[in-house]
Amino acid sequence: MAAETLLAGRIPVDLYDAMPSVGRKFLLAGKGGLNLTHAEAAEKFMSRYGARRPQLEPLLQSLGAAQLRVWAQDLGVETFTGTSQRVFPKEMKAAPLLRAWLHRLRAAGLRIHARHRWLGWDEDGGLRFATPQGGITVHPRCTVLAPGGGSWARLGSDGAWVPLLAARGIAVAPLQPANCGFEVPWSPYFRERFAGQPVKAVAASFSDATGRQHRRQGEFMVSEYGVEGSLVYALSAPLRDAIAAQRGATLLLDLLPDHDAARVAAAVSHPRGSRSLSSHLQSRLGLKGVKTALLREVLSVADMNDAAKLAATIKALPLKLRAPRPIDEAISSAGGVPFEALDEQLMLKALPGVFCAGEMLDWEAPTGGYLLTACFATGRAAGLGALGWLRSR
Ligand SMILES: Cc1cc2nc3c(=O)[nH]c(=O)nc-3n(C[C@H](O)[C@H](O)[C@H](O)COP(=O)(O)OP(=O)(O)OC[C@H]3O[C@@H](n4cnc5c(N)ncnc54)[C@H](O)[C@@H]3O)c2cc1C
Repeated sequence: MAAETLLAGRIPVDLYDAMPSVGRKFLLAGKGGLNLTHAEAAEKFMSRYGARRPQLEPLLQSLGAAQLRVWAQDLGVETFTGTSQRVFPKEMKAAPLLRAWLHRLRAAGLRIHARHRWLGWDEDGGLRFATPQGGITVHPRCTVLAPGGGSWARLGSDGAWVPLLAARGIAVAPLQPANCGFEVPWSPYFRERFAGQPVKAVAASFSDATGRQHRRQGEFMVSEYGVEGSLVYALSAPLRDAIAAQRGATLLLDLLPDHDAARVAAAVSHPRGSRSLSSHLQSRLGLKGVKTALLREVLSVADMNDAAKLAATIKALPLKLRAPRPIDEAISSAGGVPFEALDEQLMLKALPGVFCAGEMLDWEAPTGGYLLTACFATGRAAGLGALGWLRSR
């Protein structure tokens, strides 16, 4: 996006990427359906960027959800709004969009140098690259860095740039997993039987160290190691921070968010005659399968048969999260170049002529198209910043 902005200003651009081809993570993002952006109202949309909203909001006002849809349409890619207001290309995939975009960028003069790994600066401020033909150094008039965050290193974003910037005095915030799964010490029985199963229509809540209550409704997946999926990702930032501060966090699951506590208590204590507890829970409350197994995972046999305890646990099942999964498995990463190190055009104050964009910046957001939207918006802003900087000289 930065390259496109500079090319539109008639500035020749060379794009260097360590991988054999560009946009590999973008292609991966398209695998389960490319969620390009989100159609909710602007106020709600901006709130997704949390503490970094003040810095991102002006950039998202220039290139936000509506403009992105027009941009995709200009590339011949129609978008649609799904039931959850998430916006996808009609074909769901990233490949047609990337292909059309690269075609347009090349036609505008973009020179792409694949298999060029940036290694930092030499003493004269030149950019050093490792290439299959050996090391080279280039001296551009201006640089935009966009090496991504620190997840899915095999697709190129390996965070190896962090020490390169730190060596130039930039106080990079450590990269951390965001939109990630968490480890739960499942019993071997539960893991074997239920790993890979979704837990649908639940609510999850927890209070952070400041006492703030976080609550979301949705679904998550049981995995071999613990839990993952949209509901968990939505809470992953405060959960990760709570675990770092307290060495663990307890997520409270409401297995029946559409039933109030009194209704659950009445149904659980209703006489069940000769019926097993499982069939009682299924017929009275529709609780079965993985949800009942979760109850058995946290309650003793005696507590399962204690109506008050069982009813309370159905509404607030304590799931102990041990640790976030490693950053390389995360959908995105938090941390990176802090906005305090940048001017409003996203230029590094300590390195005039060097701009930063994308996930390498210190912001985070949930899944829902907010990640790509902010990457595009910061790319556009860095491109405009670079254009202004070059023109001013
Ligand atoms: C499984 C998965 C699904 C996702 N789905 C979505 C989604 O549906 N919607 C959404 O909004 N977001 C999604 N994301 C997140 C989104 O893909 C990223 O936030 C986004 O791609 C980040 O863009 P970026 O340009 O900053 O960095 P990246 O896309 O990571 O690109 C960085 C590029 O820099 C190159 N590079 C890195 N270091 C160097 C170096 N030293 N020298 C040369 N080149 C280097 C890399 O090779 C790479 O090509 C998903 C992520 C994952 C992992």
